[in-house]
Amino acid sequence: MTTVSLVGSTGSIGTQTLDVVRADPERLGVTALGAATSVDLLAAQAREFHPRIVAIADETLGPALKGQVPAGVEVRAGAEALASLAAEADVTVNAVVGFAGLGVTLATMRAGRRLALANKESLIAGGPAVRVVRGTPGAEIIPIDSEHCAIHQCLRSGRSGEVRRILLTASGGPFRGRTRNELTHVTVAEALAHPTWSMGPKITIDSSTLMNKGLEVIEAHELFGHDLGPADAFDRIEVVVHPQSIVHSMVEWCDGATVAQLSHPDMRLPIGYALAYPDRLGVAFGALDWSQVATLTFEAPDLDAFPCLGLAFGAGRQGGTAPAWLSAANEVAVEAFLAGRIRWLDIATVIRESLTAWDGGRGDSADEVVEADLAARRQAADIIERMDCVA
Ligand code: MG
Repeated sequence: MTTVSLVGSTGSIGTQTLDVVRADPERLGVTALGAATSVDLLAAQAREFHPRIVAIADETLGPALKGQVPAGVEVRAGAEALASLAAEADVTVNAVVGFAGLGVTLATMRAGRRLALANKESLIAGGPAVRVVRGTPGAEIIPIDSEHCAIHQCLRSGRSGEVRRILLTASGGPFRGRTRNELTHVTVAEALAHPTWSMGPKITIDSSTLMNKGLEVIEAHELFGHDLGPADAFDRIEVVVHPQSIVHSMVEWCDGATVAQLSHPDMRLPIGYALAYPDRLGVAFGALDWSQVATLTFEAPDLDAFPCLGLAFGAGRQGGTAPAWLSAANEVAVEAFLAGRIRWLDIATVIRESLTAWDGGRGDSADEVVEADLAARRQAADIIERMDCVA
């Protein structure tokens, strides 16, 4: 049996992870559960899955949690509680949202365990800091993000030195096919109407600007850059727009063969893959009915209409804390767009101008990453302030 520490158990990825455990209880057992603040749901999960340990990041909620879990379950509370779960099981699922997830990733690497990674900040902002500890014997990262999980699967069909290109697929978002001119006056409501996925407002806007894909390019480089050789690996990562969201990503090999992973969009498939690896889960999630798959189409992204994608490639090539700046400036710009303070096209302008102030930091430690994040947020807020004055 594979033992699992699930950190961030009460969110969307967390609850879907427990679905996967329910589907294959012979193979998977929950050793530890952790959440930021949702005491009641966490306690209910503990009563169902009988973990040895539960943890809550908000220290003041420790006593309330203790009162609701079965006797004998160890309760940990406080800032370090979530990261402390990393050394308790064969696999740690990091489903924490935001910066708090970086500590869980670093702790799992240091403990030499497998990390099933859903936390984006770990590789985008925290990439350099994670690199420092990734070489710990036994440490490995299996991505839960659907595109990266697809690439991980495709890479198993050849050797590292034989990869020619990684092809990351993108749905294209609600504005696919529009020119830059046609995007001048799009509204918040239009940007929030995503055609295939139902997600939170921040990630839906990121999908409309293709920043979501840009951040995933950086993630892919962090995870698989070593498979692309010493030359500029970013030149060998490409984005392909594929509106049906059936092909989750592809790898092209040096002999001309392209290997793709296809399924319906169901996050339980990548979660199950990361938990069962190197085996396959015995339960099928997202399997295709080929009589229903009518047409799969592919096209190149329009970098003029969606400049955020180019900005992400640029920040990725700069390396160090540039991706942390990109991601932080984007968050501030998206908030301002959602609040009606700036236009959709201004999101890219805010990010581009913020990055001109990037200080060239390396970001080798979690503290440096947090500092870079704060500096970029200040910069982006200043730029938006000046835009408001002009408007
Ligand atoms: Mg994704």
